[in-house]
Amino acid sequence: MPTLTRPQTTEADAPKAPPCPKCKNPFVRRVLPKKGLEHLLWHLYLYPFRCQICSHRFVALQFGRRYEIKLDDMREYERLRVALGVTFSGGALKGAGTTVDISTKGCWIDCPQRVLVSKGMTLHLKFQEPGKALPIEIESATVRWALGRGFGVEFLGAKPNQLDRLRALVKGTWEKRCREETDEPAAPQQGQNKKKLRTQART
Ligand SMILES: [Zn+2]
Repeated sequence: MPTLTRPQTTEADAPKAPPCPKCKNPFVRRVLPKKGLEHLLWHLYLYPFRCQICSHRFVALQFGRRYEIKLDDMREYERLRVALGVTFSGGALKGAGTTVDISTKGCWIDCPQRVLVSKGMTLHLKFQEPGKALPIEIESATVRWALGRGFGVEFLGAKPNQLDRLRALVKGTWEKRCREETDEPAAPQQGQNKKKLRTQART
């Protein structure tokens, strides 16, 4: 008698996420369904996605595809590893550090020494983009985590032109990562996939 197994999907063979219907950008993340309607839709292969650039949340059909609900799916915004010089200030505090990772919603900053940053503090941040004269300014960010020499912040407010620069930075970082992933030396039988992936990364 044949055994029935639950269909399994690993992230590696998961279909490509659909591009954002609002801004057409391909950097989109599948996210956890909210209780209620999205939970019902999940069982009908309609999965929620979050655009990582413009923040638009949408539902898209991936028929026949089953995902497990995993803990690491909980983050709605993927943090991309990037090291940027950053200065921060809040009240009497002033400091400088380097980003470890970033999304359009927040980042993690490591400092050369322990800083008096604590959870709930509001900071003004300036990120130095390589090759740019003026930093990207986030006027308001709140500290969500503080641990040793590092802390994590959520961005609360920035001027529209600064927000555009932040989005462009995140998009560029993601595109660079896609290129690096597809440019890694591949085994001969993966040559075709490599070409396909490279094409996808450019669209
Ligand atoms: Zn979008």
